[in-house]
Amino acid sequence: MLDVGFVGWRGMVGSVLLERMQAEGDFTGLAPSFYSTSSPGGPGPADLGFDSGRLGDAFDVGALARHDVIVTCQGGDYTHEVHPRLRAAGWNGYWIDAASALRMEPGTVLVLDPVNADVIAGGLARGRRDFCGANCTVSILLMAFAGLFRAGLVEWVTSMTYQAASGAGAAHMRELAAQMAAIGDAAREPLGDPASSALAVDRSVRAALADDGFPRSRFGAPLAASLLPWIDRPIGGGRSREELKGFEEGNKILGNEVPVPVDGLCVRVGSMRCHAHAVTVKLREDRPLDEIESLIGGAHEWVRVVENTPEATLAELTPAAVSGRLDVAVGRIRKLAMGGEFLTAFSVGDQLLWGAAEPLRRMLGILRSHLGEEHPARAEAA
Ligand code: NAP
Repeated sequence: MLDVGFVGWRGMVGSVLLERMQAEGDFTGLAPSFYSTSSPGGPGPADLGFDSGRLGDAFDVGALARHDVIVTCQGGDYTHEVHPRLRAAGWNGYWIDAASALRMEPGTVLVLDPVNADVIAGGLARGRRDFCGANCTVSILLMAFAGLFRAGLVEWVTSMTYQAASGAGAAHMRELAAQMAAIGDAAREPLGDPASSALAVDRSVRAALADDGFPRSRFGAPLAASLLPWIDRPIGGGRSREELKGFEEGNKILGNEVPVPVDGLCVRVGSMRCHAHAVTVKLREDRPLDEIESLIGGAHEWVRVVENTPEATLAELTPAAVSGRLDVAVGRIRKLAMGGEFLTAFSVGDQLLWGAAEPLRRMLGILRSHLGEEHPARAEAA
């Protein structure tokens, strides 16, 4: 039975991971242990249908090293601190990680199996031990347009993103909801008066956004009734680190020897858990739209092409419609006025699923098949 330690299970990604594992019956035949950085000794996750025991100390390298696999959704600081200590202690198990800390290390495999099952299989065959989920925005982009990349049709792509609060974590999602509540409270009086003007409502909303007490400690600014066109830290050249990931991680996921240019602006919007992209793709050659739609829709079973009509778009291509769904929706597919090689499209995906938890959950499944239940890969810690 594969022995798996889970760290970061109560965060945004971790809690969706447990939810999905439970829904898919993944805990059957697994020996799970749960850890915490903040409350070791406390109760483990409830409602899993089995006794999850007491929480171990997520910094106890000796305890962690007893597992065949460690799945962590704790964050980059934790990975930076614990992963090198574990490896230095001789632990040779499998590390499956949501954080960005190890993603661009040469020995790390980025996991998104509907898109790069071959890259994952190659990594396992070469004895790789570190498997990381990629950036949520990049994963959703590739889930949406895998068919075009696979067909070798993409000369370059710009992706202008519309990223959800959940991408920043549990506390940020709470802050977005708190901002919405504060705005609702502020606008209640003029909204309650049918004779009040829209300008009166707007004045109340603007006053709430400008108020010192408006909840903004996480995002640093109002996101509700606004948007934030900067995500993550600057890396020079006017670019944010989030914007570099499309190029770096996207090409690494695809295993491209010759990288495809991917760039664009990353923008946080007031959506709860779906990331969206408005893309411009420069095709290597002009191809008819129906062929392009078949390539996109036929790439794997979790992509769904939405008809380019107002009715279908509003019904099926919004964060509200896609939230909680495993399929990534791609619509508004059309050629741009610049010419037949210039394609535009809009994609929406639940970033807590394919952008975060699902690739990790499936990697654990791939590992189980690879190892076979009878052959745990438990490492001998020194
Ligand atoms: P998160 O929600 O902030 O949770 C991370 C940890 O914070 C938890 O495991 C928990 O650790 C602690 N925590 C403190 N207060 C909490 C609260 N009120 N509720 C829940 N947990 C709380 O972070 P995350 O968004 O899951 O991200 C984890 C890692 O995955 C990061 O490296 C992130 O970059 C990466 N990632 C995130 C996403 C995403 O969509 N959010 C997507 C891809 C990758 P203890 O239980 O030990 O206290």
